Amino acid sequence: MFIKSIHITKNFAIFFILFSTICIALAVFFSIKFYNNTTINTNALNSEDVSKDYIKWVDFNVTSDVLDKTSKLDINSHINNEDVKYNWIELLAYLACKNGGNFSKFKDSDLENLKTKLKNGESMETLTQDMKYYSYYYEAYNAVLSGMLGEYEIENPNDNSFTKKYGIKAFSPIAKNYSFSHYKDFGSSRSYGFNRKHLGNDLMGSIGTPIIAVESGIVEALGWNQYGGWRIGIRSFDQKRYYYYAHLRKDHPYVKSLCEGQIVKAGDVIGYLGMTGYSTKENVNNINVPHLHFGLQLIFDESQKEGNNEIWIDVYNIVEFLNKNKSEVYMSDSDSKDYCRKYDFMEASLYD
Ligand SMILES: [Zn+2]
Repeated sequence: MFIKSIHITKNFAIFFILFSTICIALAVFFSIKFYNNTTINTNALNSEDVSKDYIKWVDFNVTSDVLDKTSKLDINSHINNEDVKYNWIELLAYLACKNGGNFSKFKDSDLENLKTKLKNGESMETLTQDMKYYSYYYEAYNAVLSGMLGEYEIENPNDNSFTKKYGIKAFSPIAKNYSFSHYKDFGSSRSYGFNRKHLGNDLMGSIGTPIIAVESGIVEALGWNQYGGWRIGIRSFDQKRYYYYAHLRKDHPYVKSLCEGQIVKAGDVIGYLGMTGYSTKENVNNINVPHLHFGLQLIFDESQKEGNNEIWIDVYNIVEFLNKNKSEVYMSDSDSKDYCRKYDFMEASLYD
């Protein structure tokens, strides 16, 4: 009995020493870890403080008419190799300073005067040096429009050769020869789930209408979303734009080959118009009128991607503007019933 209790006491002592050692080791380990984390977090906060100087809000209301006029000046001056080459984003930023960012007050004379000054040799730099908000508008409009105009190559109809061009290189989200209707519905109220604002433009059309990638980029999101139903999210190569295509067709929402991480070209068929969404259950048609919800989010800092700081812009005027550049498609796979673009397309950013 005596021997047994000594044995138990000895075992308990060994256990106690081992247990204490483990506790001390764990305490030391976690305090070091906590200290490191705190240090990292503080650093992150400090660096966030430094980098907080990014655009927090953009109200994009440039009309399709002004987009048209400024893009034509830019394109023609480049095609004709004129002495003064216009940059439509610079022109728009200048005009925004003149009208306070409200393009319903746009005056043709403002654009004409600017054109004359630039033609007479004045530089954009000197013309805008006293404009307090010029750099803001330039950066904001650059984020919206920089993927839409420039050099590209398009396949010729008769052979497989390509022609180099300078012009509009973004496409309408609706394929050529398919009709749709839309109206100015940005910001109107929506009540499914919770009261919120409509952050895009609804393009009403027939179920199955091929949906086109407006700009080249990388498929960042693909799958079911309670609000958007079957949806595709595509990020531009410069990371500043996130294109959102939602309510795609039940059972066959996307072209067969599409997957997350894939590179798509402007003008590619990516999916089909439908009426899915407003359900936590997948593949459910809960939208009353078939339409594509088309949205465009701007990202100046990655913290703006998800949450309360998201910047979605009104794309109504952009959709109108892109009406003249539609991608022609054909049924390329009779088994999967998938469509494909008719004329291939290349641009420099796809080679990078
Ligand atoms: Zn919508």
